[in-house]
Amino acid sequence: MEMSDRDTHNAESNFSLFEDCLASRVFVLPSVSDPEGDSEDLDEFSLYIAQEAWLALPSKIRELTFTISPIPEADEVVLDIQPSSTDSTDTLATYGLISSGDSDESHTFLRYVLISYISLATKPPPAWSSTRTNECEICSREVPLTYHHLIPRSTHERVIKRGWHPPEMLNNVAWLCRPCHSTVHTVASNEELANEYYTVERLLERSDTQKWAGYASK
Ligand SMILES: [Zn+2]
Ligand SMILES: [Zn+2]
Repeated sequence: MEMSDRDTHNAESNFSLFEDCLASRVFVLPSVSDPEGDSEDLDEFSLYIAQEAWLALPSKIRELTFTISPIPEADEVVLDIQPSSTDSTDTLATYGLISSGDSDESHTFLRYVLISYISLATKPPPAWSSTRTNECEICSREVPLTYHHLIPRSTHERVIKRGWHPPEMLNNVAWLCRPCHSTVHTVASNEELANEYYTVERLLERSDTQKWAGYASK
């Protein structure tokens, strides 16, 4: 249940993202920026095209999240689109956005839209800056801090595949000073960090980390 709610939400927000990417493309096309053009019509037009094109996209692309790996290539996605399954190709031609009903040209238009859509839809959310502390979370010193991905990025694909953690945990960070950060990566491999030491509490259960923290905090 929870999962499907999240998917639905994601598909909705992905559509608005796609619509924005498409609109920004439509509005910069020289053929539609003539002074007689009515921008309200253009809004409706771009929404219409976005809806048509959205339905033609593979569901995998509509449900993109930042956890997807590998990130799909726009070029491969356009090849999956069946021009006959949507009126958008005809519509693009009618409005002069492409010179004819030639599907290659509308693929070029969609390709640019998809390149920006895919890159935005797969961008990870910003590190949890709300958890930003002034003191290092291991040694408690007030020194310049770096953020440590508690579940290292290199393991994200495996973490999701094996269901070790839910996707929303992937961007949890700890704020650590440089020496503590490098200590963390010395005492455990990325795989161990992801699997066993994915919270500061768990890191501090290790005797070597405790020893280090005791030394560093003096
Ligand atoms: Zn520290
Ligand atoms: Zn780190």
